[in-house]
Amino acid sequence: MVHVIELADVARQYDAAGVPALGPVDLAVETGEALAVTGPSGSGKSTLLNLIAGLDRPSSGSVTVAGERIDRLSERALARFRRDRIGMIFQFFNLLDDLTVTDNVLLPAQLVGRAGRQATARAAELLETLGIAKHARAYPGRLSGGERQRVAVARALINRPDLLLADEPTGALDSASGAEVRELLTELHRSGQTVLLVTHDTALAEACAGRRLHLVDGRVAADRRVVAPAVAR
Ligand code: ADP
Repeated sequence: MVHVIELADVARQYDAAGVPALGPVDLAVETGEALAVTGPSGSGKSTLLNLIAGLDRPSSGSVTVAGERIDRLSERALARFRRDRIGMIFQFFNLLDDLTVTDNVLLPAQLVGRAGRQATARAAELLETLGIAKHARAYPGRLSGGERQRVAVARALINRPDLLLADEPTGALDSASGAEVRELLTELHRSGQTVLLVTHDTALAEACAGRRLHLVDGRVAADRRVVAPAVAR
């Protein structure tokens, strides 16, 4: 599969009488690309993300993610698709406070029936790689924002998703934690992970994403491939 994301003539209209919140948009994202979506508030960034995540359906056009035409899937198949193929991280982490760090990370594996020794080993390995192994048995409430976002990244990666989606992943972090998460996402991309992030953080877009998509009024105003500084050096 060359394209992880393919949108063809996609529009999303929330109000039948109004203008589309998004589109029509065509977009193809290749395996291993990191794409940052920017644009003013209300320009359609969340709408785009939700369509790609299979959390919403287009009013017209087709959405293909990881080789699957997701706009045609049943709700049940869509839920399975999301758990299996997509990893997502959010501004406010969305961790479950009454589960330990390890149990939070294992949750998506449990949901696809893959919990067991292998999943536990992968969770431990991810926590190690992300530098939070010492918090494996802690509860998220005791961790810093940057650490919580690392837990969320581990959870997003446990099922080895084709695509990592990030919605303002540094938006709730202080500058030091934000820098850590920027570095982490950049490393993940360098190791081959396809990433799509919606962000106002220009430092994040510049560090991590070799491609920038700028939306204005639901349309693509600019789509630029830039050589990521890490690659240029
Ligand atoms: P952004 O993420 O760039 O701020 P959104 O995708 O959230 O933009 O919103 C794009 C447009 O769609 C805005 O005008 C917003 O008010 C509208 N919109 C978003 N979600 C809904 C919804 N569920 N119902 C109606 N209108 C919506």
